Amino acid sequence: MKQPQSQSHQQPYQKLQHKLAILADAAKYDASCASSGSIKRDSSNGTGIGSTSGGMGICHSYTPDGRCVSLLKILLTNFCIYDCQYCVNRLSSAVERARFQVDEVIKLTLDFYKRNYIEGLFLSSGIIQSSDYTMEQLVSVAKDLREKHDFRGYIHLKTIPEASPELLQQAGLYADRLSINIELPSKAALSNLAPEKNPQTIHQSMAQLKEHIDESKEYRAKKSDIIISDAKSRKSKYIYSPAGQSTQMIVGADDSVDTKILTLSNHLYKRYDMRRVYYSAFSPIPFASKNLPTKSPPLMREHRLYQADWLLRFYGFDLNDIHSAAAPTHGMLDLDIDPKLAWALANRDVFPINVNKAPKELLLRIPGVGVRGVEKIIQARQFKALRLDDLKKLRISIKKVAHFVETADPNTELKHLDSVLLKQLFIDSKTEQLALF
Ligand code: SF4
Repeated sequence: MKQPQSQSHQQPYQKLQHKLAILADAAKYDASCASSGSIKRDSSNGTGIGSTSGGMGICHSYTPDGRCVSLLKILLTNFCIYDCQYCVNRLSSAVERARFQVDEVIKLTLDFYKRNYIEGLFLSSGIIQSSDYTMEQLVSVAKDLREKHDFRGYIHLKTIPEASPELLQQAGLYADRLSINIELPSKAALSNLAPEKNPQTIHQSMAQLKEHIDESKEYRAKKSDIIISDAKSRKSKYIYSPAGQSTQMIVGADDSVDTKILTLSNHLYKRYDMRRVYYSAFSPIPFASKNLPTKSPPLMREHRLYQADWLLRFYGFDLNDIHSAAAPTHGMLDLDIDPKLAWALANRDVFPINVNKAPKELLLRIPGVGVRGVEKIIQARQFKALRLDDLKKLRISIKKVAHFVETADPNTELKHLDSVLLKQLFIDSKTEQLALF
């Protein structure tokens, strides 16, 4: 049976708990660790640093093979010498401050890991002393975890773009994923709201990460027997940020429209091979500058941006398509309907699409049919001419689809295709569904 800890032993733990509360809370604004969630386990005897009451500091992310992993998501410190106006941790903010030492982050990570609360670490930081000094600290955490403790869990390091190329190079030898925040959708917004940040430096650092990631991939492709194991073999076999790089953009802090945001995202995906661009809706902060809006953008805006982002990456849409979808709403994605449907309504001449004959790229344009749905249609139509009922059997909801497709049987829903009221039909049916709950 565990003995209660002495007062002198409890104090450092309590201090660490207090820092954890501050620095986990400060990290919650970072969206690059996809969804935050909580776990209900805790150290019920009240001892130890691993207590995660309320899931403090735990978020979920996805590994390259699609596994969902829980990560300890914290800042090394929320002190910062920069004064980015949209950030709660900016120099002039009145928030309570804390700073972990490198060995404290390591201890917390190992402790949580051993208790099975987490499978990895997401570590970011405010900038203290200098970019290089801060980056050195971040790299030290990852390096010591790998080399001294043989930690084989997932590590995502938020990288400081102004840090030296040598430090960026080292970071990828220990981290699974690196990310550099692009921060805002335009150079003008960045110089207005975060004048200490330089867009050129951000892009240069992203390019540098890409170069290392590509080199490492090439190296591994030549030596196909490489397995990511211990830190030593990882380094000697040049495994650099195997889960690639990602970035985050704040939405709604400036007046950039969605088409502008998605144009930048498209560039980042293409130019730097980003695994993900995360969109983070701006949230108003205490004592904010007059340059900032007083309200957050609707959460639906973030959601629509993610939907459009998927269209660009997985559905063969290009920027012209996004502009076309957003044209009726002046460059903003329609909050009432998803961007694929918005595009279809703006391009009705493309429809109806014959599900029995159309090529894959056209099937991907049908509102209400996802990538898996398209695969199922292609598979099923090899054996029979598909009717509307067959689409239902493939678990495709025909409520939306029926207005845009030709099938082997007569489809009476097509009569609405040219109607000016078609959009309203979708909005109404959504409202009816909501009313049922
Ligand atoms: S550098 Fe990062 S932590 Fe510091 S104020 Fe800017 S956004 Fe916030």
